[in-house]
Amino acid sequence: MQWHRTGAQTLLVRLLRSPCSGVPHDIAAAYATLALRSGELLEAIERGDLALPADERDCVLRFARRMRRIRSLDAPFESILRDEIARTFELPALERASGESEEALQETELRLAEPQPLEEPAGVTGWQRHFSASALNAYAECRRKWFYRYACGAIEDRGSAASAYGSAFHLALEDFHGEYPRPVRADEAAMRRRIRECVTWAFESQRNGFDTRVEFELQTRRAQRTAQRYVDWLLVQEREAPFEVVGRETPAELELDGRPFVGFIDRLDRDERSGGVAVIDYKTGSIPATPAEYVEKVRGFRDFQLPFYYWARTAAGDRVTRLVLIPLKDALLDVRPVALQVGRNISLAELERSRTRMIELSAELASGETREFATTRDASACTYCAYALACASKPPSEAQRFAS
Ligand code: SF4
Repeated sequence: MQWHRTGAQTLLVRLLRSPCSGVPHDIAAAYATLALRSGELLEAIERGDLALPADERDCVLRFARRMRRIRSLDAPFESILRDEIARTFELPALERASGESEEALQETELRLAEPQPLEEPAGVTGWQRHFSASALNAYAECRRKWFYRYACGAIEDRGSAASAYGSAFHLALEDFHGEYPRPVRADEAAMRRRIRECVTWAFESQRNGFDTRVEFELQTRRAQRTAQRYVDWLLVQEREAPFEVVGRETPAELELDGRPFVGFIDRLDRDERSGGVAVIDYKTGSIPATPAEYVEKVRGFRDFQLPFYYWARTAAGDRVTRLVLIPLKDALLDVRPVALQVGRNISLAELERSRTRMIELSAELASGETREFATTRDASACTYCAYALACASKPPSEAQRFAS
């Protein structure tokens, strides 16, 4: 009734998460998270911001319809309003006799249910779909995060400006290298012009990923500056070791111990002198500063991406000689890739061990025997985690630890 009077978003979210809403708990939690960001719960439901199976979509739409109806009720007396709300939500109070007293009504509404017997604990159903290096990276970072994202699919992350920036930049470079697979200095002016155009349209295509016009403009300008630095680097690279871009957004498919792994490789280059193939991954977020730092993550089984690409392209018949991360985050710095020469910066044995671990982890996830998905102990992993709101046992942040 309070929501009928005020329309307050926090009350609406509480109603959504209550058992009366008729919305499954995980879906309610997901929409509650969206509403916290956008402040528009009913609109988000009506737009269908979360991709849901038909049954669950019907539940949330029914909830939205009911809440719209309640908000529009014009009942002169509180008792009528109560009845209308009960009728709208098909609550038991509707069935009471018309002459029932207020005390009897409250007793009916507050009658406690018999406790349900506890379910037998069981493992989470084994993962039977394809695996990916990013899923294993998530599992390595925080098993609970993997559980939320892959086993529950509880929240569809609406994404952030950072992810929109990344998607747009990847699109721009894919398009750019379609026209310039062999960057040469003679084409410098045309390349600079073309990459500017590619960034402009790619960011326009991701316009909805940015919350405000100002943010969109700032991020587009940042990308334009970074793209010019990227061209600087291409020209240096071309002079030192001429290459041809032979793949853009290339599917990477690999079967490991009978389990399928899939991904997409941002770029594949062929060295014109040696014929060796370089696997290139664009990074618009933070990355290790040096090859040694990245290899340390591979050794610690905290990153599987480049090893997975290595094995996927090797299985496809390429002679992969280099694995490269290209940082595209900072417009003020020159582009300095983190490049690993296979056999020099990273050994075949290390790549083999990484593959063995991928097999072990995928077997663990496919087994259906995992009963607990522990939270990480590294609080920094929670900073941008989409599940932080729902995650009751996440580690305390540094500020909280000092405060206690
Ligand atoms: S909030 Fe932290 S502990 Fe919880 S799922 Fe996310 S990363 Fe893991």
